[in-house]
Amino acid sequence: MRAIMQGLTDAEFERLYGTEGSCLAAWVKVRQGAGMPCPRRGNPKSYDYDRRIGCTRCDMRWSITSGTVMADTKLPLTT
Ligand SMILES: [Zn+2]
Repeated sequence: MRAIMQGLTDAEFERLYGTEGSCLAAWVKVRQGAGMPCPRRGNPKSYDYDRRIGCTRCDMRWSITSGTVMADTKLPLTT
């Protein structure tokens, strides 16, 4: 995460991303900015569904953290 947030001081980072809620929102933005294609068909169109991503085409839903280092951890996103 830090590398993505270049230019922010630690204080700014904490203020903007210090809570899991805002961290998650930032994370969603990052993942969507990087593209979150459907793992089933590669459909690039997806939507937010709570903490998950949904495919607009086949309605498959998957975890926002799947395919990342966060996928196998239950730690808070702020860790
Ligand atoms: Zn799909």
